[in-house]
Amino acid sequence: MNSWQAVMRPELLQLSGYSAASDARDLLRLHANEAPQDPGGNSTGLNRYPVPQPTALIDAMADYYGVDSGEVLPVRGSDDAIDLLVRSFCRAGRDSVLVCPPTFGMYEFAVRLQDARCVTVPLLRENGFQVDYGSVLAQCTGMVRLVFLCSPNNPTGNVCTDVDVLELAAALAGRAIVVVDEAYIEFARKPSIARRLHDADNLVVLRTLSKALGLAGIRCGALLAQAGLVERLRCLMPPYPLPAPTIDAASRQLLAAANGQLEPQIDQIRSERDRLAIALHEHPDVHTVWNSEGNFLLLQPAAEARDLEARCRDAGILVRYFAADAVMPACLRVTVGSPDENDRLLDSLAVPRERAHG
Ligand SMILES: *Cc1c(COP(=O)(O)O)cnc(C)c1O
Repeated sequence: MNSWQAVMRPELLQLSGYSAASDARDLLRLHANEAPQDPGGNSTGLNRYPVPQPTALIDAMADYYGVDSGEVLPVRGSDDAIDLLVRSFCRAGRDSVLVCPPTFGMYEFAVRLQDARCVTVPLLRENGFQVDYGSVLAQCTGMVRLVFLCSPNNPTGNVCTDVDVLELAAALAGRAIVVVDEAYIEFARKPSIARRLHDADNLVVLRTLSKALGLAGIRCGALLAQAGLVERLRCLMPPYPLPAPTIDAASRQLLAAANGQLEPQIDQIRSERDRLAIALHEHPDVHTVWNSEGNFLLLQPAAEARDLEARCRDAGILVRYFAADAVMPACLRVTVGSPDENDRLLDSLAVPRERAHG
């Protein structure tokens, strides 16, 4: 038995997937209750159901993420993967998920949706928001099925090392799944942990096309794990998970990314991040700017975070406000935009006239 099988909801280990209509494309399709007319009359093919498991997309993902095709499950954005994992591993009203706040809010949302419990182990602020692995392990009692780590972490921007994650996964084998959400890994200095999948069968890596690959609008991501777990989760997903236009756009962009064609734009975000960090660091109204390996910066204003947020909004710029919690003071998270957009942000933060003169 693989160690993930001891963790999954037992009734799902045998559940056979929904039996979808045959996918044969070259025969007359009178078996799936589709419309015979192609919308607009030109051959969009959108009157037909999409391919359930599109091989070209899965191969492109495997190539770009550096794993085997059997280790790839395409999903409708990481949010979809988070929801699938929580439903597959947590019995409603009984099991728990461990999260390390401050972090991405979707983990806790998916947990509540499933009526599972949330165990929180705050990040260590004095330690650059590192994960408190000792406490995570101590809190992983019998009911904790999933541990969500986010690397680089949204909103603090720091990464987990492969050694720490693999040690945790080894310690939790047969007890819990360690999920590493790498939504921003393309912007980081370290490579993805996906190349270490064969070292742990309770390790799951989440990737997305929404950030560095620039396709938030198509809703596409990938869950990466050892083949047995991917195969099981595939059966638990709806039969036609990805819309046809998403499959096409994602396949093209992954090919471009694998060929290095997106490197210039990713490099620009990285250098703009560093320029913005320096400028914000020197700003009189900014108390702290944390180092970030994502495409965003977390900053603690010198005075009221709401005031600085309002000044941005008056200038027509949205930034993300975070209320103070047990670990983090009230903060703002700003996304790194184009050079012009970042200049606009810096201009709007310029010390207001009244204060400059008074
Ligand atoms: C933005 C983000 C995602 C991406 O979610 P999608 O559903 O793929 O758009 C996933 N995880 C984190 C931590 C994020 O910040």
